[in-house]
Amino acid sequence: MAEQLPSKESQPDEELASEIEKNIVADPDLSMDSPFVVPTKHWHRLDDGRIQCDVCPRLCKLRNGQRGFCFVRACVNDQIVLTTYGRSSGYCIDPIEKKPLNHFLPGTPVLSFGTAGCNLGCKFCQNWDISKSREVETLSDYAPPEAIALAAERLGCRSVAFTYNDPVIFQEYAIDVAQACQRRGIRAVAVTAGEHCPEARAEFYRYMDAANVDLKAFTDDFYRRICLGRLEPVLDTLRYLKHETNVWFEITNLLIPDENDSPEEIDAMTKWIVEELGPDVPLHFTAFHPDYRMMDKPRTPPETLRRSRRIARENGLRYVYTGNIYDPEGQATYCHVCNHLLIGRVNYDIVQWNLTPEGTCPHCGTRCAGVFEPQPGSWGSKRVAVRLAEFARQVAPLTGRTDHAF
Ligand code: SF4
Repeated sequence: MAEQLPSKESQPDEELASEIEKNIVADPDLSMDSPFVVPTKHWHRLDDGRIQCDVCPRLCKLRNGQRGFCFVRACVNDQIVLTTYGRSSGYCIDPIEKKPLNHFLPGTPVLSFGTAGCNLGCKFCQNWDISKSREVETLSDYAPPEAIALAAERLGCRSVAFTYNDPVIFQEYAIDVAQACQRRGIRAVAVTAGEHCPEARAEFYRYMDAANVDLKAFTDDFYRRICLGRLEPVLDTLRYLKHETNVWFEITNLLIPDENDSPEEIDAMTKWIVEELGPDVPLHFTAFHPDYRMMDKPRTPPETLRRSRRIARENGLRYVYTGNIYDPEGQATYCHVCNHLLIGRVNYDIVQWNLTPEGTCPHCGTRCAGVFEPQPGSWGSKRVAVRLAEFARQVAPLTGRTDHAF
């Protein structure tokens, strides 16, 4: 069995706990009267009277009037509530390849949105204006789930993606959106860091069709020091997706110079993926650019991405990609048996399509793992902003409170 690399300088648990505690804030304006506040069910009462949120491994312990680490879940009237039901940071139509998912309905458009807040504290966050947002009142759009499904259908999207921040923290809203989408034949995609407690996770993935899981590194030290998180819950979510669901999933690993990009770490991580998840899980190595609280690191050199891809392929992974750089070879899909080019890509554009309508290699007949249709979509690399107001007007008015507690 592949082993995780030993931690260099693990942060003691107390230090991590104190960082988490600092992010639990009081909010005197919290109340159940807002239409955006809904009850939830993954929590329990502690002996000292506090309420523990059981959605993610932070397990925030809150008193009435306090918000959790993620900011969007809070304690009101002795229960944990979600305070941003129906509110979003904005909607865009993206290529599905941008999530990134290369083996799930290639070439199709996906209606993407996020909310505010996040349950991780990554110093390199590239969506920090959303994930660190405390301005929930100024979120640009709001929409009931049915409006999002209607918009996706009318705009020709094949799926809706919960992205930009982690849907784990707004899972009640994401589940309702996924169900509304299912009724119209639209799929649901989660882009997540995978820090999720088992019970809440099982409920969430019952409604998801695909996921991209961000495996940020393969050391617990990195998770603690850079993300205020832990590695093991993410590995557990990956095992769960593989062995207990039919959700199609791919993995992203953002390579940060001198933090998580050593050949030894890539070797250990990719051996673990092959042994625990199998060789068919696509892996995307993506390039870092300086952002948020990590401005002192250079961009990832393209050679680091290519070297990591070589190591992963040598360890037996069949579909390994480079991202955020120009690299047609690293972005193409090849048959893992005869190496025939199956799908050629330049950035998010599909420039060659050689898969048979059955999703097999035309040269040797081997099946390519994934969710394919006889022909790819033709969305290309466009990104189009969408306003939901018009669609919200066409469906039942936002009633706000749905009862997720029972
Ligand atoms: S979902 Fe939010 S409130 Fe709940 S444990 Fe995680 S960070 Fe804390």
